[in-house]
Amino acid sequence: MDCKEVQKKYIPFIDNELRAGELEAFLRHLEECQDCREEYDIYYTMIMGMRYLEEESEKNWIDSEERLCIAQEYLRRHHIIYLGKLAFLAVLCIGCMFLL
Ligand SMILES: [Zn+2]
Repeated sequence: MDCKEVQKKYIPFIDNELRAGELEAFLRHLEECQDCREEYDIYYTMIMGMRYLEEESEKNWIDSEERLCIAQEYLRRHHIIYLGKLAFLAVLCIGCMFLL
């Protein structure tokens, strides 16, 4: 994913609309690219600030840094579930081989 693609994904990211694969590429890019990281911070603060004012809600404010941590945590869990499924399939295959 290059800088242009990442920049198009700030809002879907904030809205939680990225698929796991996209999310992973997005987060990896932000870790490596200081420019996009800074821009993301600005976008995030701006968008959340606007929404906060519009909705006048009592929503808990999480900052851009925290939002990234949550996404990383989500991905980690996603991977664990995926690996768990793979392990289950592997055990199943080995079981079948023994039966045959
Ligand atoms: Zn970039």
